[in-house]
Amino acid sequence: MKIKDILSANKPSLSFEVFPPKTETVFDSVKAATEEIAKLRPSFMSVTYGAGGGTSKYTLDIAKNIKELYGVPTLAHLTCVSSTKESVRQKINEIKAAGITNVMALRGDIPPALEGADRSGWDYRHAVDLIYELKAADPDFCIGAACYPEIHPESPNQKEDIRYLREKVDAGADFLTTQMFFDNNLLYNFLYKIREAGITVPVIPGIMPIANANQVQRAIKLSGSFMPQRFKSLVDKFGSDPAGMKQAVIAYATDQIIDLYANGINNVHVYSMNKPDVAARIHSNLSDILGK
Ligand code: FAD
Repeated sequence: MKIKDILSANKPSLSFEVFPPKTETVFDSVKAATEEIAKLRPSFMSVTYGAGGGTSKYTLDIAKNIKELYGVPTLAHLTCVSSTKESVRQKINEIKAAGITNVMALRGDIPPALEGADRSGWDYRHAVDLIYELKAADPDFCIGAACYPEIHPESPNQKEDIRYLREKVDAGADFLTTQMFFDNNLLYNFLYKIREAGITVPVIPGIMPIANANQVQRAIKLSGSFMPQRFKSLVDKFGSDPAGMKQAVIAYATDQIIDLYANGINNVHVYSMNKPDVAARIHSNLSDILGK
């Protein structure tokens, strides 16, 4: 099933992101965790892709398994930075052979060793190049792309970031998924600006319930997300109490999601961090709203 068709249904729904294992040794435990999340019957599940090939080999294994065992539609992520045309085309063929029709087209982060390097000879410089490649390989692919309510860290300003976002949509992105954010007003402002810029495709907000205080600091540093005082207080109070922190973060994420639904956004994507218990508790908090 195409994600764009799921998004056109006029009712609240929830989807989850999982990431593949980094090594063979943890493959079975990661697979089991993703299966537990699939049992919640989310509207779809996305499976991330290790830029530079780190965990790329397992993205399709996990996505195919969820789809075949539980019938949950899957979205396979794919990155292109520092990849050759040959390797990307091979990956696209593998995605097609696995029967996956939804692809999240990403640039990926620039590996530290290549920062500042001359990019003129690279086969792919931006996600838009990958979107063109996917469309050429199969016009029937349903394509997602990333967007940043708080601006991509490399962008000089939001106007330019939105100009390039529009390029991705014009190239064929059917929907956009946001970077995590902790203040819904940032999303509402962003939506206003992109609609004004002529971007009309559905935007799926990404919510991250990070239940570990150290991970919160790291994730926020990497993404550049703004931490509202309400969230800071929660980390200050419960950061050293793992069970309390988990409960508080689940409540915070649930509150954010309900506000998004209440403001007319139907599908929300939860970065599950491969934690079935966190996914299940958020899902359960929303059970009546989701009608399950
Ligand atoms: P781009 O769209 O190429 O944008 C990157 C920067 O370049 C932006 O500043 C943009 O404004 C600018 N830009 C875009 N097009 C042009 C152009 N034509 N000319 C000049 N400048 C331009 N990473 C992974 O490695 N694996 C994953 O699975 C993964 N999943 C993600 C899922 C989501 C929802 C999000 C939000 C991010 C994800 N990432 C993932 C991280 C992502 O790869 C990084 O944020 C990366 O730095 C940018 O990727 P992008 O696709 O947004 O790049």
